[in-house]
Amino acid sequence: MILRVTQYGEPILRKVGKPITDFDESLAELANDMVDTMYDEEGIGLAAQQVNRALQLCVIDVRPPEGVEVPFSYSFDGKQPPLDLIMPMAIINPKVTITDATEDVYEEGCLSFPGVNGKVDRPVGVCCEFQDTEGNPHVLEADGLLGRCILHEVDHLNGRLFIDLMQKRDLKKNEAKIKKLKRESRDFLKSQK
Ligand code: ZN
Repeated sequence: MILRVTQYGEPILRKVGKPITDFDESLAELANDMVDTMYDEEGIGLAAQQVNRALQLCVIDVRPPEGVEVPFSYSFDGKQPPLDLIMPMAIINPKVTITDATEDVYEEGCLSFPGVNGKVDRPVGVCCEFQDTEGNPHVLEADGLLGRCILHEVDHLNGRLFIDLMQKRDLKKNEAKIKKLKRESRDFLKSQK
Protein backbone atom coordinates (compact mmCIF):
# COMPACT_ATOMS: atom_id res chain seq x y z
CA MET A 1 0.00 0.00 0.00
CA ILE A 2 1.27 3.44 -0.86
CA LEU A 3 1.31 5.85 2.06
CA ARG A 4 1.16 9.62 2.09
CA VAL A 5 4.60 11.23 2.45
CA THR A 6 4.78 13.95 5.08
CA GLN A 7 6.16 17.30 4.01
CA TYR A 8 8.50 19.76 5.67
CA GLY A 9 6.61 21.83 8.21
CA GLU A 10 4.73 18.86 9.66
CA PRO A 11 5.89 18.45 13.29
CA ILE A 12 6.31 14.65 12.95
CA LEU A 13 9.51 15.23 10.92
CA ARG A 14 11.17 16.74 14.00
CA LYS A 15 10.18 13.88 16.33
CA VAL A 16 12.72 11.37 17.58
CA GLY A 17 11.54 7.87 16.70
CA LYS A 18 10.65 5.41 19.46
CA PRO A 19 12.71 2.21 19.57
CA ILE A 20 10.82 -0.78 18.17
CA THR A 21 10.21 -3.67 20.55
CA ASP A 22 7.46 -5.68 18.81
CA PHE A 23 8.70 -7.48 15.73
CA ASP A 24 5.26 -8.55 14.64
CA GLU A 25 3.20 -8.81 11.47
CA SER A 26 2.15 -5.15 11.57
CA LEU A 27 5.80 -4.05 11.62
CA ALA A 28 6.57 -6.16 8.53
CA GLU A 29 3.50 -4.69 6.85
CA LEU A 30 4.55 -1.12 7.64
CA ALA A 31 8.05 -1.78 6.28
CA ASN A 32 6.52 -3.24 3.09
CA ASP A 33 4.24 -0.23 2.67
CA MET A 34 7.23 2.07 3.15
CA VAL A 35 9.14 0.22 0.42
CA ASP A 36 6.13 0.54 -1.94
CA THR A 37 5.92 4.24 -1.13
CA MET A 38 9.68 4.77 -1.64
CA TYR A 39 9.49 3.12 -5.09
CA ASP A 40 6.36 5.08 -6.01
CA GLU A 41 8.20 8.32 -5.17
CA GLU A 42 11.38 7.11 -6.89
CA GLY A 43 13.45 7.59 -3.75
CA ILE A 44 16.39 5.57 -2.40
CA GLY A 45 15.40 5.83 1.26
CA LEU A 46 12.38 6.57 3.43
CA ALA A 47 12.09 7.03 7.19
CA ALA A 48 9.06 6.28 9.40
CA GLN A 49 8.65 10.00 10.18
CA GLN A 50 8.04 10.52 6.46
CA VAL A 51 4.94 8.32 6.66
CA ASN A 52 3.77 10.00 9.85
CA ARG A 53 5.16 7.48 12.37
CA ALA A 54 7.80 8.44 14.95
CA LEU A 55 9.64 5.10 15.05
CA GLN A 56 13.23 3.83 14.71
CA LEU A 57 12.55 2.36 11.26
CA CYS A 58 13.68 3.28 7.78
CA VAL A 59 13.91 1.51 4.43
CA ILE A 60 16.56 1.90 1.74
CA ASP A 61 17.29 0.62 -1.74
CA VAL A 62 20.37 2.08 -3.41
CA ARG A 63 20.74 -0.47 -6.20
CA PRO A 64 22.02 1.27 -9.33
CA PRO A 65 20.15 0.72 -12.62
CA GLU A 66 21.12 -2.45 -14.50
CA GLY A 67 24.49 -2.19 -16.21
CA VAL A 68 25.68 0.64 -13.98
CA GLU A 69 28.60 -0.09 -11.67
CA VAL A 70 27.84 -0.05 -7.93
CA PRO A 71 29.26 3.31 -6.75
CA PHE A 72 30.18 2.26 -3.19
CA SER A 73 31.66 -0.56 -1.19
CA TYR A 74 29.86 -2.38 1.60
CA SER A 75 29.88 -5.35 3.86
CA PHE A 76 26.81 -6.98 5.36
CA ASP A 77 27.46 -9.17 8.41
CA GLY A 78 31.09 -9.34 7.31
CA LYS A 79 30.29 -10.56 3.76
CA GLN A 80 29.61 -8.99 0.37
CA PRO A 81 26.33 -10.56 -0.75
CA PRO A 82 24.87 -9.34 -4.06
CA LEU A 83 22.78 -6.21 -3.47
CA ASP A 84 19.72 -8.00 -4.87
CA LEU A 85 19.84 -10.29 -1.81
CA ILE A 86 19.82 -7.48 0.75
CA MET A 87 17.83 -4.68 -0.96
CA PRO A 88 15.27 -3.34 -0.31
CA MET A 89 16.40 -3.31 3.31
CA ALA A 90 14.47 -2.36 6.43
CA ILE A 91 16.73 -0.85 9.11
CA ILE A 92 15.33 -0.95 12.65
CA ASN A 93 16.79 0.55 15.85
CA PRO A 94 20.04 1.58 14.09
CA LYS A 95 23.22 2.56 15.92
CA VAL A 96 25.63 4.33 13.60
CA THR A 97 29.33 4.89 14.14
CA ILE A 98 31.63 6.78 11.79
CA THR A 99 34.46 4.63 10.45
CA ASP A 100 35.93 7.22 8.10
CA ALA A 101 35.43 10.84 9.13
CA THR A 102 36.77 12.26 5.86
CA GLU A 103 34.08 14.69 4.68
CA ASP A 104 32.57 14.25 1.27
CA VAL A 105 30.11 16.60 -0.45
CA TYR A 106 27.11 15.55 -2.53
CA GLU A 107 23.90 17.14 -3.72
CA GLU A 108 21.06 15.59 -1.72
CA GLY A 109 17.31 15.66 -2.07
CA CYS A 110 14.58 14.42 0.25
CA LEU A 111 11.07 13.12 -0.45
CA SER A 112 9.70 15.43 2.25
CA PHE A 113 11.20 18.43 0.44
CA PRO A 114 9.95 18.20 -3.16
CA GLY A 115 11.99 20.44 -5.45
CA VAL A 116 14.71 21.17 -2.87
CA ASN A 117 18.29 20.02 -3.57
CA GLY A 118 21.54 21.13 -2.03
CA LYS A 119 25.08 20.21 -1.14
CA VAL A 120 25.52 18.37 2.14
CA ASP A 121 28.86 17.41 3.74
CA ARG A 122 28.93 14.03 5.43
CA PRO A 123 31.59 11.61 6.63
CA VAL A 124 32.51 8.97 4.06
CA GLY A 125 32.43 5.73 6.05
CA VAL A 126 29.78 4.37 8.41
CA CYS A 127 29.06 1.24 10.38
CA CYS A 128 25.39 0.63 11.13
CA GLU A 129 24.22 -1.97 13.64
CA PHE A 130 20.50 -2.59 13.32
CA GLN A 131 17.73 -5.17 13.44
CA ASP A 132 15.61 -6.52 10.59
CA THR A 133 11.81 -6.87 10.70
CA GLU A 134 12.17 -10.18 12.54
CA GLY A 135 14.43 -8.68 15.18
CA ASN A 136 17.65 -10.33 13.92
CA PRO A 137 20.76 -8.19 14.47
CA HIS A 138 22.94 -7.15 11.52
CA VAL A 139 26.01 -5.04 10.84
CA LEU A 140 26.21 -3.01 7.64
CA GLU A 141 29.40 -1.16 6.79
CA ALA A 142 29.33 1.20 3.84
CA ASP A 143 30.82 4.23 2.15
CA GLY A 144 29.81 6.38 -0.81
CA LEU A 145 26.13 6.65 -1.69
CA LEU A 146 25.07 3.84 0.66
CA GLY A 147 26.91 5.36 3.62
CA ARG A 148 25.36 8.74 2.84
CA CYS A 149 21.88 7.26 2.46
CA ILE A 150 22.17 5.54 5.86
CA LEU A 151 23.25 8.80 7.50
CA HIS A 152 20.42 10.79 5.86
CA GLU A 153 17.78 8.25 6.94
CA VAL A 154 19.12 7.73 10.47
CA ASP A 155 19.09 11.53 10.87
CA HIS A 156 15.34 11.42 10.07
CA LEU A 157 14.84 8.86 12.85
CA ASN A 158 16.34 11.40 15.24
CA GLY A 159 14.33 14.36 13.95
CA ARG A 160 17.26 15.81 11.99
CA LEU A 161 16.79 16.99 8.42
CA PHE A 162 19.20 17.55 5.54
CA ILE A 163 18.53 21.30 5.58
CA ASP A 164 20.19 21.36 9.03
CA LEU A 165 23.45 20.28 7.35
CA MET A 166 23.05 21.92 3.95
CA GLN A 167 25.79 24.29 2.81
CA LYS A 168 24.72 27.86 3.57
CA ARG A 169 24.76 29.03 -0.04
CA ASP A 170 22.51 26.19 -1.19
CA LEU A 171 20.20 26.70 1.77
CA LYS A 172 19.83 30.34 0.80
CA LYS A 173 19.07 29.33 -2.79
CA ASN A 174 16.24 27.08 -1.56
CA GLU A 175 14.87 29.48 1.04
CA ALA A 176 11.73 30.48 -0.88
CA LYS A 177 10.85 26.85 -1.72
CA ILE A 178 11.34 25.78 1.91
CA LYS A 179 9.13 28.60 3.17
CA LYS A 180 6.47 27.63 0.65
CA LEU A 181 6.53 24.00 1.85
CA LYS A 182 6.09 25.19 5.40
CA ARG A 183 3.11 27.34 4.40
CA GLU A 184 1.52 24.47 2.49
CA SER A 185 1.99 22.13 5.46
CA ARG A 186 0.33 24.64 7.78
CA ASP A 187 -2.66 24.83 5.43
CA PHE A 188 -2.76 21.04 5.12
CA LEU A 189 -2.71 20.55 8.89
CA LYS A 190 -5.49 23.12 9.30
CA SER A 191 -7.64 21.31 6.73
CA GLN A 192 -7.20 18.04 8.70
CA LYS A 193 -8.68 19.48 11.91
ZN1 ZN B 1 14.96 12.61 3.62
